[in-house]
Amino acid sequence: MSNTLITLHSYLCDRWQAGEAPQTQLFDPATGAAIAQTSSKGLDLRAALHHGRTVGGPALRAMTFAQRGELLGKLSASLVTHRDELLDVARANMGANRSDGKFDVDGASGTLATYAKLGSQLGDKTTLHDGDQLQFSRSKRFVAQHVWSPRHGVAVHINAFNFPAWNLCEKIAVALLAGVPVLAKPGTATAWLSVRIVELWVQEGLLPPGTVQLLVGSAGDLLDHVGPQDAIVFTGSGSTAQQIRSHPAVLKWNVPVNIEADSLNACVLGPDVQPGCDTWTMFLAEVVREMTQKAGQKCTAIRRIVVPKALLAEVKDELVARLHDLQVGDPANDRSQVGPLAGPTQQRDVLAGLAELNRHASLIWQGTAPAQGCYAPPSLYQSDAGVDAEFINDHEVFGPVATLLPVDGDPAEVVAVVARGGGSLVCSVFSDDLDWCRQVVPAIAPHTGRIYWGSAKVFDQGVGHGAVMPSLVHGGPGKAGGGEELGGERGLRFYWQRTAIQGDTQLLRALFG
Ligand code: NAP
Repeated sequence: MSNTLITLHSYLCDRWQAGEAPQTQLFDPATGAAIAQTSSKGLDLRAALHHGRTVGGPALRAMTFAQRGELLGKLSASLVTHRDELLDVARANMGANRSDGKFDVDGASGTLATYAKLGSQLGDKTTLHDGDQLQFSRSKRFVAQHVWSPRHGVAVHINAFNFPAWNLCEKIAVALLAGVPVLAKPGTATAWLSVRIVELWVQEGLLPPGTVQLLVGSAGDLLDHVGPQDAIVFTGSGSTAQQIRSHPAVLKWNVPVNIEADSLNACVLGPDVQPGCDTWTMFLAEVVREMTQKAGQKCTAIRRIVVPKALLAEVKDELVARLHDLQVGDPANDRSQVGPLAGPTQQRDVLAGLAELNRHASLIWQGTAPAQGCYAPPSLYQSDAGVDAEFINDHEVFGPVATLLPVDGDPAEVVAVVARGGGSLVCSVFSDDLDWCRQVVPAIAPHTGRIYWGSAKVFDQGVGHGAVMPSLVHGGPGKAGGGEELGGERGLRFYWQRTAIQGDTQLLRALFG
């Protein structure tokens, strides 16, 4: 990999375009050195949206689901072919060690492949019905049918810095299969990997004109130009989400906005789980992985560990022993298990969060981290304040950090602590006690988008608390943004208009099947 500062361009209107000065720098977080620069200043984003609507949209709508699926299959295969190069970029611009890079890049190719398969299953149709024909009179002639149609706009994807491959591709997979062209804007700090992916697709001639555009650098005036047929899918912080939702053009045109935002995911240990049993081992493995994988920069990471007081001492001992063994350091070193944060801004935010945690909770254990580069020490805290623990239940520290919240174990108390997070993407529950789970699992469900229920019978079979499966919905209520992505066919509907069409049954059948 070259040591010279590279300039990242945007891919708009089927051309690579450079923005004007000043440039924003991107860093290698393992060293803190600047490695790339980019700017979106002066780019014509109105023209880019127009290009997507008038060139990319018609091209996709002319394709069947099977043909769109075939396209996604090729995009996926390209990532698989160039995997090693992409992992190098993930290391250079995000500090991802090989394992963390694979989680992002393989997640991207896997999600594209899953939607490619769905396209092939949906076959030669171009859109779907919602339900059966409905009859309103004694005659069977006059009926109604709900029909889905792809929006005639652009899917504007605004992504977070932490998954430059997966976040780009999971959104693209759903929108393209739905028949809607994409303008994606990656988080600037780690945009190089997103740029490289689109470069590969362009070089290989995979993208029909106007179907995928990439805006690198700040969003500029992009949202000023959204219109009534566009849709926005955002991943990032709650504060940016609020700005997007309340943008005048978004409000004026009622542009649908799907949001995945901050999430204070909890992990609950049931009072029945005895040290040493399979469910116990599963619980410990998930907590350690979620604290340390991608240096804790995952939207699904466990931030709050809800533990019965009777098991607290053993939980602490076991977690500290496991965390203690992990090596924090250079992502290029195969022995390093926890890498740096994505850049200087992310490091500053996490260190500020640790300072706040020091004021609101007791530090149980803290690892060491290299002084040079953008590292943060893995840190485990404890707060005995339960639902009254304000900072812990309200603020996401986006790094290798989690807090133990001891409870008596009474189901109502457990549910109250989980709910106190204000809505999450995922909550895991580890227990083999069916009666206890009967009171906890359904009561937690309204507060989270996914529940990962670990128990002895699924020991060694689960995919992991933090793994987002393309066929399951990804999203959560409240603080988590109130959105839903993926979920197999469910995800397509965000990009479609549902229209109730009333008329003669045979004419309707002739047009819509
Ligand atoms: P962020 O600062 O909100 O940025 C997210 C994206 O929004 C970036 O592409 C950013 O561009 C862009 N952006 C910022 N201001 C904007 C504006 N006014 N208009 C349009 N776009 C704007 O979040 P982040 O720092 O990248 O990500 C960290 C946060 O995201 C964490 O709090 C984490 O909880 C959350 N997150 C959630 C999920 C999830 O699935 N729920 C996943 C990952 C992360 P620039 O990069 O150019 O500023």
